[in-house]
Amino acid sequence: MLRLREPGGQGTVKVLLQPRDYVEQKTLTPHDYGLDLWQAIPGVTEMAVAKQQLSYQCDQCGSPNIVALPVLHEQGTRTYSSPTNWGSSQSYSAQGAAPPRRKGYGGPFLLWGFLLSFFLFWSWACYSAMLKYPKTASSMEYPLGLLGLMVLGCVIGLVLTTRKVSRYNQAVFPVLYSTWARTYMCRRCGKLLHIPS
Ligand SMILES: [Zn+2]
Repeated sequence: MLRLREPGGQGTVKVLLQPRDYVEQKTLTPHDYGLDLWQAIPGVTEMAVAKQQLSYQCDQCGSPNIVALPVLHEQGTRTYSSPTNWGSSQSYSAQGAAPPRRKGYGGPFLLWGFLLSFFLFWSWACYSAMLKYPKTASSMEYPLGLLGLMVLGCVIGLVLTTRKVSRYNQAVFPVLYSTWARTYMCRRCGKLLHIPS
C-alpha cells in the first residue's frame, strides 16, 4: 500500500500494488503455457504446434508426423493372457523399433561348458586307461597332454567370452540404448532421425 500525494491536490490517493510474486505463485493454467482459448479451435492449435516443432520434422519428406521409437515399440506391442495361452504379440513396426538388448551369459556358458565337459570326460577316460593298463601308459601321454590343452583352452575361452559380454553390457549397451531412446521415425516415409536432447 502506497500513499501518493495527488499533484496539486490536498488529499491522498491509495494505490494498491500487487506483489509480483502473487502472479508467479499461482498454479499454471494452459493460458500460462501460451495456449489461449481461441487456440482450442480445431486446426489452430495443430498449426501452432507444427510451427513450434519445425526443427523436428522429417528431413526427407518434411512431414512433422514423427514418433519416438520407444513410443512406436510400446504402441505396437500387445500383451495378452488367457487360461490356455499368454504372451505378447508385436506388429512389424514394433519389432523394428525394439530396444537393443543386453547380451546374456547363457549362450557362452552353454557352448564352452559343453566343450569343457567333453574334453574333461575324455581326459578322465585317458587317465583311467593309463592307470588300468600301465604297459601302454606311455602311448597315452601324448593324447592326454593334448586333451589337457583343450581343457585349458576351453577355460580361457569361457573367461574371455564372459569378459567380452560383461564389457558389452557395461560400455556398449548404454550407448546403444540412449541412441535408441532418442531415435524418431517418420510415420510418412519411415526415415529414421536422431534427435539429441
Ligand atoms: Zn518422412
